[in-house]
Amino acid sequence: MGSALSLNTVTVKEKWGLAECIEGCARHAIPGISPWRDVLHAMGVAAAGRQIRDAGLTVTGLCRGGMFPAPDAAGRAAAIDDNLRAIEEAHTLNAACLVMVCGGLPPGSKDLPGARAMMRDGLEAILPTARAAGVTLALEPLHPMTCADRSVLSTTAQALDLCDALGDGVGVALDCYHIWWDPEVAAQIARAGRRIAAFHACDWLVPTTDLVLDRGMPGDGVIDIVGLRAMVEAAGYQGFTEVELLSRRWWAEEPDHVLATMKASHRC
Ligand code: ZN
Repeated sequence: MGSALSLNTVTVKEKWGLAECIEGCARHAIPGISPWRDVLHAMGVAAAGRQIRDAGLTVTGLCRGGMFPAPDAAGRAAAIDDNLRAIEEAHTLNAACLVMVCGGLPPGSKDLPGARAMMRDGLEAILPTARAAGVTLALEPLHPMTCADRSVLSTTAQALDLCDALGDGVGVALDCYHIWWDPEVAAQIARAGRRIAAFHACDWLVPTTDLVLDRGMPGDGVIDIVGLRAMVEAAGYQGFTEVELLSRRWWAEEPDHVLATMKASHRC
């Protein structure tokens, strides 16, 4: 029960907008929040920033930037523009990082190395702006099952190689759901060290009925979340544990019950 909790707003996205999430965190004494950009835009960035500050919450991340690969140059330029707006928003919110879900294959493409090059080109294009704004780009490797449509960045090692290549201003967001299966996970977390910008918690249910929308409350599945948390702390990360549930089951529950369960389930 050592680490501070943060609510990722996607966890209650069916019933609460951002203002209700902020009030809910205050009511449940959850000190961190990580908004998704859809609810942020619905509330308005300036108003959200004010209400979050007034509630005394830490913004542990803004979800999300990325999605760089596109079939043509105009699509790639539009993605870069959108990422520049996301950096500005993260700066306004004083977010600990901008979480980067880097994107999958462009529609119809079979060129995986090409998509990875587009990811890197996109990151290089926005990095000077991120550095100037003091916004850390937190590369989030996603489970390889999402490689086609969401992230050609699949492992912690691959994310850290990219960090090595890009230099200052880039870190990693480590999500238990995406990294737990990796035989190299312990070694790569140790390698990540101070570059760990965020730690996301949710669990892998057995059986999993939907590979995107059936994530489990921490403790309900097979991931050693406490063990992973100990690894990131040993590597130097002292930040929040952000609970991020994409789950039809939890979306159907009353959000106050979800937040109370999050707190009661928090073991690390
Ligand atoms: Zn995540």
